[in-house]
Amino acid sequence: MHTVSAVHNPFQQARFLITVNDLRDLPPPRGGEIAFVGRSNAGKSSAINTLANHNRLAFVSKTPGRTQHINFFDLGASRYLVDLPGYGFADAPGNIRQHWEELVASYLLTRESLAALVLVMDARHPLKPRDRQMLGWFSPTGKPVHILLTKADKLSRSSALQVLREVRLELGKMPGIHSTQLFSSLTREGLDEAISTTWGLLSPAGSAIHVAN
Ligand code: GDP
Repeated sequence: MHTVSAVHNPFQQARFLITVNDLRDLPPPRGGEIAFVGRSNAGKSSAINTLANHNRLAFVSKTPGRTQHINFFDLGASRYLVDLPGYGFADAPGNIRQHWEELVASYLLTRESLAALVLVMDARHPLKPRDRQMLGWFSPTGKPVHILLTKADKLSRSSALQVLREVRLELGKMPGIHSTQLFSSLTREGLDEAISTTWGLLSPAGSAIHVAN
């Protein structure tokens, strides 16, 4: 099913800005950033592309030599979408894992302009150990996490709703501020909710976007 978005979508402004492989190269912290993270293959690039209504935007992050880097996209109005490298590559050599942890953990814990995190999980395999580790790492920042349970189209309606309930219940037991939704890049299910919630987290009170219905 193809739904027409009733929400003005500021993510359509997204333009690739810079690739960073060392914290010293981060752009100066201006305005607000929202960072996307998830296990490799969870559907993070597809979710970013769907949000931005752009077929290949996040595939910048998949070009050889950039998969372990942090990629910044400029949304205009001093706001940035940040694509963090995927995790969960079980057979990655120790030095790659260590580099990932140093780069991403430091970014998440120290970046003052980071407003919120979006954690992308395959709705069929939510809350794997490294997802939980990520939530545990991030919770001391006190910043909110929005969870996209993506590939929801691969589950029946009742199974998808069951997963949503279970994940919300589990997150309720963990420290931190969480919101959770179903999402599909294939059917665009949950797109309006994802746009409103993530832009709301990125924007100071008063500049939230309005649903036009
Ligand atoms: P990433 O490694 O997390 O960036 O994952 P990708 O966005 O590259 O997606 C991994 C695979 O899952 C690709 O084959 C996508 O086509 C597929 N995929 C991603 N999102 C969805 C979705 O919402 N529904 C379905 N059916 N497939 C998806």
